[in-house]
Amino acid sequence: MRIAMGGISHETNTFCSGKTGLDEFQEREWGVGQEIIDANKGVRSYQGGVIDACERLGIDLVPTFYASATPSAIIAREAFDEMENLLIQKLDEAGKLDGICLNLHGAGVAEGIDDIESHVITRVRDHFGPDMPIVVTLDLHGNIFQESLDNADALFGVNLYPHTDSYDRGVEAIEILPKLISGEVKPAMHITHLPMMLPSTTTDLSPAKDINEICWEHEKQDDVIDCTFFHGFAPADIPRVGVSVLAMTNNDPAKAKQISEDVAGTIWSRREEFRPPINPPEKVFEMAGEDDGRPVIINEKADNPGGGGPGDGTHLLRAMIEAKLEDACFGFIHDPETVAQAHDAGVGATISVRLGGKKEPLHGEPIEATAYVKCLTDGRFIQQSPMGRGRKVDLGKMARLVIDGIDVIVSTIRTQTLDDEVFRLHGIEVTRYKYVAIKSSNHFRAGFAPIAHKIIRADTPGLVSADLSTFNYKRLERPIWPLDDEVSWP
Ligand SMILES: [Zn+2]
Repeated sequence: MRIAMGGISHETNTFCSGKTGLDEFQEREWGVGQEIIDANKGVRSYQGGVIDACERLGIDLVPTFYASATPSAIIAREAFDEMENLLIQKLDEAGKLDGICLNLHGAGVAEGIDDIESHVITRVRDHFGPDMPIVVTLDLHGNIFQESLDNADALFGVNLYPHTDSYDRGVEAIEILPKLISGEVKPAMHITHLPMMLPSTTTDLSPAKDINEICWEHEKQDDVIDCTFFHGFAPADIPRVGVSVLAMTNNDPAKAKQISEDVAGTIWSRREEFRPPINPPEKVFEMAGEDDGRPVIINEKADNPGGGGPGDGTHLLRAMIEAKLEDACFGFIHDPETVAQAHDAGVGATISVRLGGKKEPLHGEPIEATAYVKCLTDGRFIQQSPMGRGRKVDLGKMARLVIDGIDVIVSTIRTQTLDDEVFRLHGIEVTRYKYVAIKSSNHFRAGFAPIAHKIIRADTPGLVSADLSTFNYKRLERPIWPLDDEVSWP
């Protein structure tokens, strides 16, 4: 049996300025053929699961083309077309295939295409015909459209946020393929959309945790293949954004419909529990309370590069400096200029910096300060978080600066912080600090929850704000919760 894998993955924050081009994909993840295997073998990623499952089942796996960029602005149309064409070309060159496994996201938007996943799936379907088995892995932040269901045989979204189950979804997608090919399984999928958007919400805690448990209870039935609560991705100004529930049974469309509507009904009835408290940084420092010997993790969600934040926002760091916090570190601020300046000056130098605040006015002014260059690194380490464990990370040259007594790590590459390895790389043992500030929404929980005294979100203005009323939607279908008062469903 020969199965091809490939895909294009992007979470598009349409509120970011500019466009995302091929450079951003090439910087983060760009693999052709064997490169995809080399980057993912032994890694807790979708592809890592696909590779291991194929090996175990004796399936001949043909890697084709895969690209992924850190979440950012709308994808330039030429860039998307080039990647999609390359994917089709590489799938064609794969020779005779028995099935195709696509690794997509669900919240990709290109110029003129509100839903790149349906576009890719439909194009692959049209190209390979109605009989080619096509399975797809997706992120739970996908805004999922019916067209994807119509053109794929089976869709598998991650259940957990932090996405520690990407590997397992890759395994599932491969395991179903022999059954699809033999006719043993005929998936019937149904999706129920709710007029509801979520700010990013971890599944480690209620109410999202409870909804997952309801989904998994359904999955225990023999004829239920999957039930997934898609949170959707709110910072996207496209008509259909938000929560959906996808249920998949073996050849029982009525049952798939009933399960997806039941779970959606429970989410809808509990929607007020999903409304987040909004805490400005000053209040967060108070909420940190007494030191118990373990660090308080403060996450600046609104500038999470993993949701499209520039990563160079200065609101939280400025508040920490003004509050004169002691035993505090920040990992990290994205600012290639300041990194270069520190590397030029060398370890032990004192330099005048204009740190961060250079890309999106919403994220604050640069911090003008005197900084001591404590250490300089190459930005390379191996991810240790249960999410994506084993992945080789390269954040480019980095620097650890000391500004008003606060240790601040600065990066060349923009991405979110997933575990404390980046601190360790710079000689910082976070368990010895009281305050550890990072830019991430929820993925960091997989790496930091085991060592944290408390985790508290600091709400600053930004492109990934938990306060959805701060986004200026123009194309979104209204009414929708939580923006509008009068929203009814069904
Ligand atoms: Zn996600």
